Amino acid sequence: MGMTRKHFNVVFLRLCFTVFLQLISVSSSTSPQGQMETAASRSLEHDNGVHCSRERSKAAWKIIDEYLMPFVEKERYKISSRCRLHPENDVYRDQEQHKMHVDINEWRCGYCKKTFYEEKYLDKHFDNRHYDLLNVVSVNG
Ligand SMILES: [Zn+2]
Repeated sequence: MGMTRKHFNVVFLRLCFTVFLQLISVSSSTSPQGQMETAASRSLEHDNGVHCSRERSKAAWKIIDEYLMPFVEKERYKISSRCRLHPENDVYRDQEQHKMHVDINEWRCGYCKKTFYEEKYLDKHFDNRHYDLLNVVSVNG
């Protein structure tokens, strides 16, 4: 029953994507700084088309990596590089990979080696100093 299974998979992928979108919209209202974050991400969305805050992006990618990617690999699906769920379209991924957790109270920037006491200060530093490194691609073209 190849056809039936394929159809199920397509439905499943769509379901994942719907859940993913809902998660993004729900998490902003449950966050303690929801108000601020919503305002900030709104201005980001306004400037660059669509991309959400670092916190929401991280939460969403965690779910994608945990639940969607094993399935994609098992079924040998190829996700189009134009799809927002393609790992290369994660705007924060490069920055996240340049986070070095040296010690319990020491986070180091992998680009300029500056150190911070907490991860959130490193996040701020990325936003302030390395915003040009965000993997933001124009989707309007
Ligand atoms: Zn830096």
